[in-house]
Amino acid sequence: MTQLVKLAIDGGKAAVVHPLPKAHPGAMRIGIEEEEAVLEVLRSKRLFRYYAPYGGSSKVKAFEEGLGVVLGAPHVLAVGSGTSALSSSLAALEIGPGDEVVVPAYTWIATAASALAVGAVPTVAEVDAGLTLDPESFEEVITPRTRAVIAVHMRGAPARMGEINDVAKRHGIAVVEDVAQAMGGTYQGQRLGTLGDMGAFSLQFNKIITAGEGGAVATADRRRYERARMYHDVSAGLRSELATEQMFLATTCRLSELQGAVALVQLGRLEGILADLRRAQRSLTSRLAGLAEERGVTFRRQWDAAGDTGLTFIFYAPTSEIAHDVVRALRAEGVPASLLFSPDTLDFHVAYHWRPLISRSGWAKITAFDLAPGTSGCDLSRTPRSMELLARAVQVEMSPEFSEQNLEEIGFALEKVLTALPEPVASR
Ligand SMILES: *Cc1c(COP(=O)(O)O)cnc(C)c1O
Repeated sequence: MTQLVKLAIDGGKAAVVHPLPKAHPGAMRIGIEEEEAVLEVLRSKRLFRYYAPYGGSSKVKAFEEGLGVVLGAPHVLAVGSGTSALSSSLAALEIGPGDEVVVPAYTWIATAASALAVGAVPTVAEVDAGLTLDPESFEEVITPRTRAVIAVHMRGAPARMGEINDVAKRHGIAVVEDVAQAMGGTYQGQRLGTLGDMGAFSLQFNKIITAGEGGAVATADRRRYERARMYHDVSAGLRSELATEQMFLATTCRLSELQGAVALVQLGRLEGILADLRRAQRSLTSRLAGLAEERGVTFRRQWDAAGDTGLTFIFYAPTSEIAHDVVRALRAEGVPASLLFSPDTLDFHVAYHWRPLISRSGWAKITAFDLAPGTSGCDLSRTPRSMELLARAVQVEMSPEFSEQNLEEIGFALEKVLTALPEPVASR
């Protein structure tokens, strides 16, 4: 067995000696501009987007317009969270009780919860080696009740939107993109969130840009935009040109001007964050490509590498046992690596652990499941391939703040750990 130097886990010196910056990309870039923008809102005493005691313009509206320009989307609506962006999107598409919404087995549980929020049942499909919705599995789980699919651009990388849109079109199903983890990414040169019928974004603390909490909906369709607005604001009818019959009441999940102010400044930081994330991810990918192949390690499949935001570096070990050992060894080297799935560790990113959905507990039983009798709902026996893949997947989150020195140390740690792996039997 070749070994560069003794692994930290075996008592050697850790590869990472300089402390690594924290991952939360947008949050770590908060600076004087965000402070000033918030103070400006406070001093103007305009904390509500739709009216102001002393006039002035709305930060939320400016954010919506700015995001529309970045995306090339005709209509953008800011909302209170990524979850409410998803349920606003579904409501805009007239999805409701009795309907099924296909979601991938790997996504934050909010994607599935957003279907329940409009009274629909989420059903799960497999992810492929890109860790995004597998178009074939999507087609297999379609039933006469299926009315929408949520394609998630998970961990910053684009899903196979071409194939997903084709399947959806063939079956007359609406497409929502969950862009919560991939703002600014592209697929075939087009911004994520503009490839389906509706795009849903999150501004929660952990996302590429953040206002602490918040979200947004993008669409090219004026009527759907109006419906999303109606969903997110019970008083939207007051400000709408819609006829009474077209109005409906839902909930209130508006974005405040304080959040809008931060979101607007953060939007200006987006391209810089993406450039730095991509620089970090690409340096590791090119450094490790040869060694990975020798050791039977494969990188996450990229459906459009140029469109990946660079948010994470993910690779598959040959077995889940090896993946587990690799994570332990990397952590000993000082790299905050993680395994994407373990049956023993509760993690709401993996359908296997969606206990409230699997048990159909709470009011969703009455509002959603009972209105879709016979639905398979979240039948997890249908996603064994996703669980097998995720159990072998090792993730190292990127930070736009990584210095050359940080990347050198992380790269060295990965080299040490991968070098210590046995060569695969076939190539020996
Ligand atoms: C964060 C996230 C959401 C939900 O966003 P919130 O703002 O937390 O409601 C939805 N989908 C995915 C994939 C996410 O990562």
